[in-house]
Amino acid sequence: MPIDPTLPYDDTNIFARILRGEIPCGKVYEDDHALAFHDINPQAPSHILVIPKGAYVSWDDFSARAADAEIAGFVRAVGHVARAAGHVESGYRLLANIGQDGHQEVPHLHVHIFAGRPLGPMLA
Ligand code: C5P
Repeated sequence: MPIDPTLPYDDTNIFARILRGEIPCGKVYEDDHALAFHDINPQAPSHILVIPKGAYVSWDDFSARAADAEIAGFVRAVGHVARAAGHVESGYRLLANIGQDGHQEVPHLHVHIFAGRPLGPMLA
């Protein structure tokens, strides 16, 4: 079920629990601002999630409340993960599902990186 974007941040969400080390993940990268791990239900040969370490539900929440260093660190982490995974030459897709119409299921901001095959035109 998509999240209700009007609710405050819920620190029992699954990605908050992964960040606290309560639940394992297939980690591919971590720094002061971001954690990246393999999606548990991959939709492409390579499907990695990148999440900011701060408690943000959505892109609008993140952009409004995060410090500039957090925003820069998160954006850099996404680029670093794509490069380190070897996706620069063949390309990749970034996706962030936000709120109910965006069908966001986990209420902690995350960016999907899909790669490893031709992904076709973007679906609306
Ligand atoms: O729709 P949304 O962008 O919120 O999707 C959440 C993603 O988190 C899904 O692709 C799901 O497979 C992934 N997930 C995960 N590990 C978990 C729980 C969810 O990779 N423990």
